[in-house]
Amino acid sequence: MQLAAGNGGDGCVAFRREKFEPHGGPSGGDGGHGGSVYMRASKDVDSLVELYYQPIQKAEHGQAGMTKQRHGRTGKDLLIPVPCGTQVYNEEDGALIGEVLEDGDTLLLAKGGRGGLGNCHFATASHQTPRESTPGTPGESCTVRFELKSVAHAGLVGYPNAGKSTLLSKLTNATPKIAAYPFTTLNPLIGTLQFEDFKTLRLADIPGLIDGAHEGVGLGHHFLRHIERTELLVFVLDMAGVDGRNAIEDYRNLCKELALYSPDLKDRPRLIVANKMDVPEAAERLEAFKSATGLDPFPASAEQGEGVDNVKAALYTHFFANA
Ligand code: GDP
Ligand code: MG
Repeated sequence: MQLAAGNGGDGCVAFRREKFEPHGGPSGGDGGHGGSVYMRASKDVDSLVELYYQPIQKAEHGQAGMTKQRHGRTGKDLLIPVPCGTQVYNEEDGALIGEVLEDGDTLLLAKGGRGGLGNCHFATASHQTPRESTPGTPGESCTVRFELKSVAHAGLVGYPNAGKSTLLSKLTNATPKIAAYPFTTLNPLIGTLQFEDFKTLRLADIPGLIDGAHEGVGLGHHFLRHIERTELLVFVLDMAGVDGRNAIEDYRNLCKELALYSPDLKDRPRLIVANKMDVPEAAERLEAFKSATGLDPFPASAEQGEGVDNVKAALYTHFFANA
Protein backbone atom coordinates (compact mmCIF):
# COMPACT_ATOMS: atom_id res chain seq x y z
CA MET A 1 0.00 0.00 0.00
CA GLN A 2 1.29 3.43 -0.88
CA LEU A 3 1.10 6.18 1.66
CA ALA A 4 1.66 9.85 0.95
CA ALA A 5 1.65 12.60 3.53
CA GLY A 6 0.59 16.05 2.37
CA ASN A 7 3.13 18.56 1.08
CA GLY A 8 3.62 21.75 3.02
CA GLY A 9 2.10 24.77 1.35
CA ASP A 10 4.47 27.37 -0.12
CA GLY A 11 5.09 30.64 1.62
CA CYS A 12 3.57 33.65 -0.11
CA VAL A 13 5.20 36.80 -1.49
CA ALA A 14 2.87 39.76 -1.19
CA PHE A 15 2.91 43.41 -0.12
CA ARG A 16 0.29 45.47 1.56
CA ARG A 17 -1.48 47.72 -0.90
CA GLU A 18 -3.92 49.82 0.96
CA LYS A 19 -5.64 53.01 0.08
CA PHE A 20 -3.31 55.41 1.89
CA GLU A 21 -0.37 53.05 2.06
CA PRO A 22 0.77 52.36 -1.50
CA HIS A 23 4.10 50.88 -0.41
CA GLY A 24 3.07 48.76 2.53
CA GLY A 25 5.41 46.17 3.93
CA PRO A 26 5.63 42.51 3.00
CA SER A 27 2.49 40.61 3.87
CA GLY A 28 2.87 37.10 2.44
CA GLY A 29 1.67 34.48 4.89
CA ASP A 30 3.15 31.07 5.63
CA GLY A 31 2.10 27.90 3.95
CA GLY A 32 0.18 25.38 6.03
CA HIS A 33 1.83 22.13 7.08
CA GLY A 34 0.89 19.04 5.14
CA GLY A 35 -1.25 16.41 6.83
CA SER A 36 0.45 13.26 8.15
CA VAL A 37 -0.60 9.66 7.72
CA TYR A 38 -1.18 7.59 10.85
CA MET A 39 -2.52 4.16 11.57
CA ARG A 40 -4.81 3.79 14.54
CA ALA A 41 -5.97 0.60 16.23
CA SER A 42 -9.70 0.30 16.60
CA LYS A 43 -11.65 -2.44 18.33
CA ASP A 44 -14.41 -1.88 15.78
CA VAL A 45 -12.26 -2.99 12.87
CA ASP A 46 -12.03 -6.74 12.36
CA SER A 47 -9.82 -7.11 9.34
CA LEU A 48 -7.55 -5.44 6.86
CA VAL A 49 -9.74 -6.39 3.93
CA GLU A 50 -11.07 -2.89 3.36
CA LEU A 51 -7.58 -1.59 2.82
CA TYR A 52 -7.03 -3.86 -0.16
CA TYR A 53 -9.56 -1.78 -2.01
CA GLN A 54 -7.78 1.46 -1.24
CA PRO A 55 -4.15 0.81 -2.12
CA ILE A 56 -3.21 4.47 -2.15
CA GLN A 57 -3.80 6.55 0.93
CA LYS A 58 -3.04 10.26 1.02
CA ALA A 59 -3.23 12.98 3.60
CA GLU A 60 -4.19 16.49 2.56
CA HIS A 61 -1.63 19.03 1.34
CA GLY A 62 -1.10 22.23 3.27
CA GLN A 63 -2.52 25.27 1.59
CA ALA A 64 -0.16 27.94 0.27
CA GLY A 65 0.24 31.10 2.32
CA MET A 66 -1.87 34.04 1.25
CA THR A 67 -1.79 37.79 1.13
CA LYS A 68 -2.47 39.92 4.19
CA GLN A 69 -0.35 37.56 6.29
CA ARG A 70 -2.92 34.88 6.17
CA HIS A 71 -1.49 31.45 6.76
CA GLY A 72 -2.44 28.57 4.54
CA ARG A 73 -4.68 25.97 6.10
CA THR A 74 -2.98 22.93 7.61
CA GLY A 75 -3.65 19.75 5.65
CA LYS A 76 -5.87 17.24 7.41
CA ASP A 77 -4.16 14.19 8.85
CA LEU A 78 -5.22 10.81 7.60
CA LEU A 79 -5.95 8.17 10.24
CA ILE A 80 -6.10 4.69 8.81
CA PRO A 81 -8.23 2.51 11.09
CA VAL A 82 -6.81 -0.99 11.54
CA PRO A 83 -7.59 -3.90 13.87
CA CYS A 84 -5.82 -4.11 17.20
CA GLY A 85 -2.62 -6.09 16.70
CA THR A 86 -1.75 -4.73 13.26
CA GLN A 87 1.89 -4.56 12.36
CA VAL A 88 3.23 -2.43 9.56
CA TYR A 89 6.26 -3.28 7.46
CA ASN A 90 8.25 -1.26 4.97
CA GLU A 91 7.48 -2.98 1.68
CA GLU A 92 10.87 -2.13 0.18
CA ASP A 93 13.20 -3.67 2.74
CA GLY A 94 10.72 -5.72 4.75
CA ALA A 95 11.63 -3.96 8.00
CA LEU A 96 9.05 -3.77 10.75
CA ILE A 97 8.04 -0.15 11.22
CA GLY A 98 5.88 -0.74 14.25
CA GLU A 99 2.61 -2.06 15.57
CA VAL A 100 -0.54 -0.92 17.31
CA LEU A 101 -1.97 -3.18 19.97
CA GLU A 102 -4.66 -1.53 22.06
CA ASP A 103 -7.74 0.32 20.90
CA GLY A 104 -6.71 3.90 20.18
CA ASP A 105 -2.96 3.24 19.77
CA THR A 106 -1.69 5.48 17.01
CA LEU A 107 1.50 5.31 14.97
CA LEU A 108 2.91 7.92 12.59
CA LEU A 109 3.67 6.40 9.18
CA ALA A 110 4.38 9.37 6.92
CA LYS A 111 5.01 12.86 8.18
CA GLY A 112 3.46 15.81 6.46
CA GLY A 113 5.72 18.45 4.86
CA ARG A 114 6.42 21.76 6.62
CA GLY A 115 4.73 24.85 5.35
CA GLY A 116 7.04 27.43 3.73
CA LEU A 117 7.64 30.89 5.17
CA GLY A 118 5.96 33.92 3.67
CA ASN A 119 7.98 36.99 2.79
CA CYS A 120 6.88 38.81 5.92
CA HIS A 121 9.58 36.84 7.76
CA PHE A 122 12.35 38.24 5.60
CA ALA A 123 11.93 41.96 6.20
CA THR A 124 14.75 43.76 7.99
CA ALA A 125 15.45 47.45 8.47
CA SER A 126 17.71 47.49 5.42
CA HIS A 127 15.64 45.07 3.40
CA GLN A 128 12.11 46.35 3.35
CA THR A 129 10.74 44.78 0.23
CA PRO A 130 11.81 41.17 0.53
CA ARG A 131 10.81 38.99 -2.36
CA GLU A 132 11.99 35.85 -0.62
CA SER A 133 9.76 33.11 0.62
CA THR A 134 10.43 29.42 1.14
CA PRO A 135 8.59 26.61 -0.53
CA GLY A 136 6.79 23.99 1.48
CA THR A 137 8.66 20.73 1.91
CA PRO A 138 7.24 17.57 0.39
CA GLY A 139 5.39 15.16 2.62
CA GLU A 140 6.96 11.76 3.23
CA SER A 141 5.79 8.89 1.15
CA CYS A 142 6.38 5.19 1.58
CA THR A 143 5.11 1.80 0.56
CA VAL A 144 4.01 -0.38 3.42
CA ARG A 145 2.42 -3.70 4.11
CA PHE A 146 0.00 -4.27 6.97
CA GLU A 147 -0.17 -7.56 8.77
CA LEU A 148 -2.47 -8.64 11.47
CA LYS A 149 -1.01 -10.49 14.40
CA SER A 150 -3.60 -11.60 16.82
CA VAL A 151 -3.44 -10.15 20.27
CA ALA A 152 -6.04 -12.42 21.69
CA HIS A 153 -5.64 -14.18 25.02
CA ALA A 154 -6.90 -17.44 23.64
CA GLY A 155 -7.11 -18.84 20.14
CA LEU A 156 -9.68 -21.31 18.87
CA VAL A 157 -8.03 -23.94 16.74
CA GLY A 158 -9.58 -26.81 14.89
CA TYR A 159 -10.37 -28.19 11.51
CA PRO A 160 -12.75 -26.34 9.24
CA ASN A 161 -16.37 -26.89 10.23
CA ALA A 162 -15.55 -28.06 13.73
CA GLY A 163 -17.67 -25.22 15.07
CA LYS A 164 -15.09 -22.58 16.02
CA SER A 165 -17.08 -19.69 14.65
CA THR A 166 -20.23 -20.95 16.29
CA LEU A 167 -18.49 -21.28 19.63
CA LEU A 168 -16.93 -17.84 19.30
CA SER A 169 -20.32 -16.31 18.61
CA LYS A 170 -21.77 -18.00 21.72
CA LEU A 171 -18.91 -16.96 23.96
CA THR A 172 -18.36 -13.42 22.77
CA ASN A 173 -19.81 -10.41 21.04
CA ALA A 174 -18.29 -11.40 17.71
CA THR A 175 -20.55 -12.21 14.79
CA PRO A 176 -18.54 -14.49 12.55
CA LYS A 177 -19.84 -15.96 9.33
CA ILE A 178 -21.01 -19.49 9.98
CA ALA A 179 -21.50 -21.94 7.16
CA ALA A 180 -21.16 -25.61 6.46
CA TYR A 181 -18.12 -25.43 4.25
CA PRO A 182 -14.44 -24.91 4.90
CA PHE A 183 -12.77 -21.54 4.79
CA THR A 184 -15.77 -19.40 5.55
CA THR A 185 -13.55 -17.39 7.79
CA LEU A 186 -10.72 -15.82 5.88
CA ASN A 187 -9.59 -13.44 8.55
CA PRO A 188 -9.02 -14.21 12.15
CA LEU A 189 -11.86 -12.78 14.05
CA ILE A 190 -11.44 -11.50 17.53
CA GLY A 191 -14.31 -11.42 19.95
CA THR A 192 -14.42 -10.10 23.47
CA LEU A 193 -15.74 -12.33 26.17
CA GLN A 194 -17.08 -10.51 29.20
CA PHE A 195 -17.59 -12.15 32.57
CA GLU A 196 -20.08 -11.21 35.27
CA ASP A 197 -17.39 -9.28 37.13
CA PHE A 198 -16.66 -7.29 33.94
CA LYS A 199 -13.30 -8.90 33.40
CA THR A 200 -12.75 -9.44 29.72
CA LEU A 201 -10.79 -11.78 27.49
CA ARG A 202 -10.17 -11.60 23.78
CA LEU A 203 -10.70 -14.80 21.84
CA ALA A 204 -9.54 -15.29 18.30
CA ASP A 205 -11.06 -17.64 15.80
CA ILE A 206 -8.07 -18.99 13.91
CA PRO A 207 -9.52 -20.39 10.74
CA GLY A 208 -8.31 -22.84 8.18
CA LEU A 209 -5.97 -25.10 10.10
CA ILE A 210 -5.50 -28.20 8.00
CA ASP A 211 -2.84 -30.81 7.37
CA GLY A 212 0.25 -29.22 5.94
CA ALA A 213 -0.74 -25.83 7.29
CA HIS A 214 2.76 -25.34 8.67
CA GLU A 215 4.06 -25.56 5.10
CA GLY A 216 1.63 -22.98 3.92
CA VAL A 217 -1.05 -25.33 2.58
CA GLY A 218 -4.44 -23.65 2.42
CA LEU A 219 -4.31 -20.46 4.35
CA GLY A 220 -2.77 -22.23 7.28
CA HIS A 221 0.58 -20.58 7.50
CA HIS A 222 -0.92 -17.18 7.34
CA PHE A 223 -3.15 -17.97 10.26
CA LEU A 224 -0.72 -19.91 12.35
CA ARG A 225 1.13 -16.68 12.90
CA HIS A 226 -1.86 -15.39 14.80
CA ILE A 227 -1.71 -18.24 17.24
CA GLU A 228 1.81 -17.43 18.32
CA ARG A 229 0.71 -14.67 20.60
CA THR A 230 -2.17 -16.37 22.28
CA GLU A 231 -1.55 -17.66 25.74
CA LEU A 232 -4.05 -20.48 25.64
CA LEU A 233 -5.25 -22.69 22.82
CA VAL A 234 -8.85 -23.84 22.72
CA PHE A 235 -9.10 -26.94 20.57
CA VAL A 236 -12.48 -27.38 19.00
CA LEU A 237 -13.13 -30.96 17.90
CA ASP A 238 -16.02 -32.26 15.88
CA MET A 239 -17.32 -35.26 17.85
CA ALA A 240 -20.09 -35.91 15.37
CA GLY A 241 -17.71 -37.06 12.69
CA VAL A 242 -19.30 -34.86 10.06
CA ASP A 243 -17.34 -35.04 6.76
CA GLY A 244 -15.96 -38.38 7.93
CA ARG A 245 -13.83 -36.73 10.57
CA ASN A 246 -12.34 -38.63 13.42
CA ALA A 247 -11.70 -36.55 16.51
CA ILE A 248 -8.80 -38.67 17.71
CA GLU A 249 -6.92 -38.25 14.46
CA ASP A 250 -7.93 -34.63 14.25
CA TYR A 251 -6.53 -33.91 17.64
CA ARG A 252 -3.23 -35.63 16.91
CA ASN A 253 -2.89 -33.94 13.55
CA LEU A 254 -3.64 -30.54 14.99
CA CYS A 255 -0.99 -31.02 17.63
CA LYS A 256 1.45 -32.14 14.98
CA GLU A 257 0.77 -29.16 12.74
CA LEU A 258 1.20 -26.75 15.59
CA ALA A 259 4.41 -28.37 16.75
CA LEU A 260 5.82 -28.36 13.23
CA TYR A 261 5.05 -24.72 12.86
CA SER A 262 6.54 -23.69 16.13
CA PRO A 263 7.93 -25.89 18.89
CA ASP A 264 6.67 -23.34 21.43
CA LEU A 265 3.11 -24.15 20.57
CA LYS A 266 3.51 -27.77 21.55
CA ASP A 267 3.59 -26.89 25.22
CA ARG A 268 1.11 -24.06 25.14
CA PRO A 269 -1.68 -24.53 27.71
CA ARG A 270 -4.84 -25.80 26.14
CA LEU A 271 -8.50 -26.49 26.68
CA ILE A 272 -10.21 -29.11 24.61
CA VAL A 273 -13.83 -28.76 23.58
CA ALA A 274 -15.69 -31.79 22.30
CA ASN A 275 -18.24 -30.08 20.10
CA LYS A 276 -21.46 -31.21 18.42
CA MET A 277 -22.45 -33.38 21.38
CA ASP A 278 -26.08 -32.87 20.34
CA VAL A 279 -25.50 -35.40 17.56
CA PRO A 280 -26.42 -38.89 18.83
CA GLU A 281 -23.19 -40.66 17.77
CA ALA A 282 -21.07 -38.10 19.55
CA ALA A 283 -21.35 -39.61 23.04
CA GLU A 284 -19.77 -42.86 21.95
CA ARG A 285 -17.03 -41.06 20.05
CA LEU A 286 -16.26 -38.96 23.07
CA GLU A 287 -15.69 -42.08 25.17
CA ALA A 288 -13.41 -43.47 22.48
CA PHE A 289 -11.53 -40.19 22.41
CA LYS A 290 -11.05 -40.20 26.17
CA SER A 291 -9.69 -43.70 26.29
CA ALA A 292 -7.43 -43.21 23.28
CA THR A 293 -5.91 -39.95 24.46
CA GLY A 294 -6.35 -39.98 28.21
CA LEU A 295 -7.75 -36.47 27.92
CA ASP A 296 -10.99 -35.21 29.39
CA PRO A 297 -12.48 -32.61 27.06
CA PHE A 298 -15.37 -30.30 27.77
CA PRO A 299 -18.45 -31.71 26.07
CA ALA A 300 -20.46 -28.99 24.34
CA SER A 301 -22.89 -28.16 21.63
CA ALA A 302 -21.88 -24.76 20.43
CA GLU A 303 -24.91 -24.61 18.22
CA GLN A 304 -27.36 -25.22 21.05
CA GLY A 305 -25.32 -23.38 23.64
CA GLU A 306 -24.93 -26.53 25.76
CA GLY A 307 -21.75 -26.75 27.79
CA VAL A 308 -20.59 -23.34 26.64
CA ASP A 309 -20.78 -22.03 30.21
CA ASN A 310 -18.33 -24.69 31.34
CA VAL A 311 -15.87 -23.55 28.70
CA LYS A 312 -16.39 -20.00 29.84
CA ALA A 313 -15.77 -20.97 33.45
CA ALA A 314 -12.60 -22.82 32.49
CA LEU A 315 -11.35 -19.75 30.65
CA TYR A 316 -12.04 -17.65 33.71
CA THR A 317 -10.17 -20.07 35.91
CA HIS A 318 -7.19 -20.18 33.59
CA PHE A 319 -6.82 -16.44 33.25
CA PHE A 320 -8.09 -15.01 36.49
CA ALA A 321 -8.33 -17.60 39.25
CA ASN A 322 -4.76 -17.21 40.47
CA ALA A 323 -4.43 -13.55 39.66
P1 GDP B 1 -15.73 -23.44 11.85
O1 GDP B 1 -15.33 -23.72 10.44
O2 GDP B 1 -14.93 -24.27 12.80
O3 GDP B 1 -15.75 -21.99 12.20
O4 GDP B 1 -17.24 -24.00 12.00
P2 GDP B 1 -18.60 -23.21 12.04
O5 GDP B 1 -18.83 -22.60 13.36
O6 GDP B 1 -18.70 -22.32 10.85
O7 GDP B 1 -19.61 -24.42 11.93
C1 GDP B 1 -19.59 -25.33 10.83
C2 GDP B 1 -20.90 -26.07 10.75
O8 GDP B 1 -21.11 -26.88 11.88
C3 GDP B 1 -22.10 -25.14 10.68
O9 GDP B 1 -23.04 -25.67 9.79
C4 GDP B 1 -22.64 -25.15 12.10
O10 GDP B 1 -24.01 -24.89 12.13
C5 GDP B 1 -22.32 -26.56 12.52
N1 GDP B 1 -22.17 -26.66 13.98
C6 GDP B 1 -21.43 -25.88 14.79
N2 GDP B 1 -21.55 -26.25 16.09
C7 GDP B 1 -22.39 -27.30 16.09
C8 GDP B 1 -22.93 -28.14 17.14
O11 GDP B 1 -22.66 -27.97 18.34
N3 GDP B 1 -23.77 -29.14 16.74
C9 GDP B 1 -24.09 -29.35 15.44
N4 GDP B 1 -24.91 -30.34 15.17
N5 GDP B 1 -23.61 -28.59 14.44
C10 GDP B 1 -22.78 -27.58 14.75
MG1 MG C 1 -15.29 -20.47 11.01
